[in-house]
Amino acid sequence: MGDFVKETDINYYEIWKRGGANGGDEDYALFRCPNCRTTYLMDYEVDTVFLDADDLARRVSISGSDDSFPCVSCGRPLDSHSIWKALRIEDDTADWRVTWDSIRSSPWAWAVKPNASSDNELV
Ligand SMILES: [Zn+2]
Repeated sequence: MGDFVKETDINYYEIWKRGGANGGDEDYALFRCPNCRTTYLMDYEVDTVFLDADDLARRVSISGSDDSFPCVSCGRPLDSHSIWKALRIEDDTADWRVTWDSIRSSPWAWAVKPNASSDNELV
C-alpha cells in the first residue's frame, strides 16, 4: 500500500530554505518514534537527525552504529540501527515509518511537497 511518505515526496527546496542544507549532497528521509509517533527528518548522507521542525539548527548525529538519542517527546531511546532499518524499509519497521496521515498532522507537514501523495506521481 502507498500510505507511507516516500523520499521522493520530500521538499528539498523548502528544507534548504529553512536552513537544512548540509553542503549540497543531502539525502533526506523521514522516520518517527514508534512509541509516540513524533516525526523526525534525517539527512542520512551526513547521519544527522533534525529534532525540531521549527529550528533546523537543532540536530543530533547518529553516525555510530550504537548511537541513539532520546525522543524529544517521550524520551524513548531512538537507536541508529532501528532508524537505518526503517529507512531501508525492512520488515517490521512500519511503526518507524511516516504515513501521510501522520506527516500532515505533524510540525513537519511543510517538509513534503504540497501536491504529493501516494496516488499522484505527477509532482
Ligand atoms: Zn517518542
